Amino acid sequence: MSFLPSCHEVQTDLTEYTEGALPFSRRAGIWVHLLFCRVCAGFLRGMKALPGVAKASLAAPTDVPEAASRALDAVQAALKKGKP
Ligand SMILES: [Zn+2]
Repeated sequence: MSFLPSCHEVQTDLTEYTEGALPFSRRAGIWVHLLFCRVCAGFLRGMKALPGVAKASLAAPTDVPEAASRALDAVQAALKKGKP
């Protein structure tokens, strides 16, 4: 692999890039690539927007039906009983 990674390599490594998990030389190559490549820069913007979307979808529902709430309580009580 040359210093400048291809679009495919950049897009494959973007998650690790955003987490800072790549070695410096690799990060630098991706950074330079992102300066010149609108496609990959757009890909990165999309990825950065994603955690907000994922968090929103994982948030506890605010309108839990009472039956579901009771069922959850029953499950939690049963689990507590099961512990020594
Ligand atoms: Zn690219």
